[in-house]
Amino acid sequence: MIRLSDILERVKSYNPKADLELINRAYVYSGKAHAGHVRMSGEPYLIHPLEVAGILSEMKMDVTTIVVGLLHDTIEDTDITHEEILGHFGDEVAFLVDGLTKISRLEFETTRHAQAENLRRMIISMAQDIRVIMIKLADRLHNMRTLEHLKPEKRIKVARETMDIYAPLANRLGISWIQSELEDLAFRYIHPEAFHSLQEKVSAKRSEYDAYIGEVLKVLDKALADNGLKGEVTGRVKHLYSIYNKMKIQDLPFEQIYDLIAFRIIVDSVRDCYGVLGIIHSLFRPVPGRFKDYIGVPKSNRYQSLHTTVIGPFRERMEVQIRTREMHLTAEDGIAAHWRYKEGSKTLPEEDIKRFSWFKQILDELKEVEDPRELMETVRTDLFPNDVYVFTPKGEVREFPKGATPIDFAYSIHTDVGHHCVGAKVNGRMVPLRYRLKNGDMVEIITSKGHRPSKDWLKIAFTNSAKSKIRSFIKREERERSMKIGEELLDKELRKMGTSLKKTIKTEGFQKAATTFGFHRVEDLIATVGFGKYSPRQVLSRLFPAEDVDTKLGYRGEAREAVRKARSKAKKDGILVDGVDDLMVRFAHCCNPLPGDDVVGIITRGRGISVHTVDCPNVEAERYDPDRLVDINWDSKVKVPRTVRIKVSSEDKKGILAEMTAVISARNINISHADITTTSDNRAVNFFEVDVEDLEQLQDLIKALSGVQGVISVERLKTQ
Ligand code: MN
Repeated sequence: MIRLSDILERVKSYNPKADLELINRAYVYSGKAHAGHVRMSGEPYLIHPLEVAGILSEMKMDVTTIVVGLLHDTIEDTDITHEEILGHFGDEVAFLVDGLTKISRLEFETTRHAQAENLRRMIISMAQDIRVIMIKLADRLHNMRTLEHLKPEKRIKVARETMDIYAPLANRLGISWIQSELEDLAFRYIHPEAFHSLQEKVSAKRSEYDAYIGEVLKVLDKALADNGLKGEVTGRVKHLYSIYNKMKIQDLPFEQIYDLIAFRIIVDSVRDCYGVLGIIHSLFRPVPGRFKDYIGVPKSNRYQSLHTTVIGPFRERMEVQIRTREMHLTAEDGIAAHWRYKEGSKTLPEEDIKRFSWFKQILDELKEVEDPRELMETVRTDLFPNDVYVFTPKGEVREFPKGATPIDFAYSIHTDVGHHCVGAKVNGRMVPLRYRLKNGDMVEIITSKGHRPSKDWLKIAFTNSAKSKIRSFIKREERERSMKIGEELLDKELRKMGTSLKKTIKTEGFQKAATTFGFHRVEDLIATVGFGKYSPRQVLSRLFPAEDVDTKLGYRGEAREAVRKARSKAKKDGILVDGVDDLMVRFAHCCNPLPGDDVVGIITRGRGISVHTVDCPNVEAERYDPDRLVDINWDSKVKVPRTVRIKVSSEDKKGILAEMTAVISARNINISHADITTTSDNRAVNFFEVDVEDLEQLQDLIKALSGVQGVISVERLKTQ
């Protein structure tokens, strides 16, 4: 157990001018506040804030932060108020304690929403004062160290949250020692069996590893000395969770993981880093593809180092990291290392914020995202440490999470580049849009003005910023489409009532109707009609007496009636299928209608009108909701070939297939697919997929095929 004097001594060692009296005062105050409280372990509660302050002193934090570490649970767990803290310790401390209280208030709620909100607050308060997150990490670290005292279900929940949020956060802030410890602690509770078996295996080999490390250190020391270079060489076994991860990613048993020991060489200058690298590579054969220059291209958390894997003195693979002392400090303490030199400044300087650009990006995204699930996803994937670095054609470096595709790249350039992206070249070669970007790729985006994103892109895009841009585009487009359909449907019905949408829309009655449906703006009501949520009839019944609506609109109740209307040749008020923006209509796959077929439209929710043949079973199924059926017409001026399947039963006789295809080709009809099977009774069943312009052309083709000698029957297949 840590004592206050240990903390004071440590603070004094890195900050000789520190106001130790203030820390002492906070300790006494916290002790009084928590007096009589005990932790789940049975120990006095004060131990917890003391340990948290201890961790913060290990992070070499400033006095204010240590003080807040001691006080962080007072408002939450005792009678102490914000005002009292303010009175005793000033507004900086009070603000920080407040921030931590807000975060912890949400911590123990179980809903996803609460967790997301918790995270949002944490990140927002982090933006105001980065120390909030340092204290939060120290708090979580101590809670994880003492997790065994909680109930088993609770342990797993806290461990998961740690693995999902806090460890990646520590990573993103570059505080690697906290990250490793949090990961190993969480690992122990999430996968206890894997943890213990791995721990056993590693400790069984401990002395072997130590001997090996000792031998390699001698070799490396000598190599440096022989070349007149100074450097501090160390070797260590990696932390358990990272070994476990390697086993999982490489799908290998423990015995075959070669790089669980890492060697590190710390030198004085960047030039020496490359000098040492040269020596290592001249003595030991480098493993191709394993050299990474994070000095030239630092990671987004500012991590810098050279990494290489070589075939070592015992013919084993050996990983070596080479860095300067300053880089080492950043690697271990991350943002804390940088921050602590700016004693007295609350937030990070602009320049540092820029370097931690992921952080600003998250903040921007948080402002946009409302759905808690989406928010969690945003933070989770954005915090995830696996990055890839790619180049623009101009040679600029861009950073993406592993899994990003050219679409993500396109959106990172500009929203419009994303929207209009039709293809991509990587290192000069065309790649599919689902291509996963790799480190060092040079990416070039090909755009086309008329192009726009589709829903499928949501599956291809990986980053949340690209996804939210695609989503908002689709939403906007859906809304426009719904508006158009809504206007058209309402206008059609209003005309039956002897008026029009144009005349009605500005009236007070219409505005009132919108209000009764719960909308502020009439446009929203119209869009909802187009979306298929409310029918024009429902809207009209708020504008006119019910009897009038029933007599004038007249068709209530039976789909048959709508279908009959669709069949009848008087379709003057129908929508021209090919005449309207093709965004609004889609051809149903269930019946695959062809120009010339009798068709009817069904308003689908959010996806415009789907066109079915009148005898399609799905139209029958809609009969209980006839308001969703709309009359539609083919626009005879436009000819767009559509694919139709036909089935030809024939005798299995030589040359008949050639004859059939000749008949099809003679009509200038394209065959996109053919499939022939013969049956035991000397018959053949031929399936053709042909592109025809309309029903007339299809009927002509069917007639011609029926005329081929040996053909028994020809049938159009409606399903695809
Ligand atoms: Mn706490």
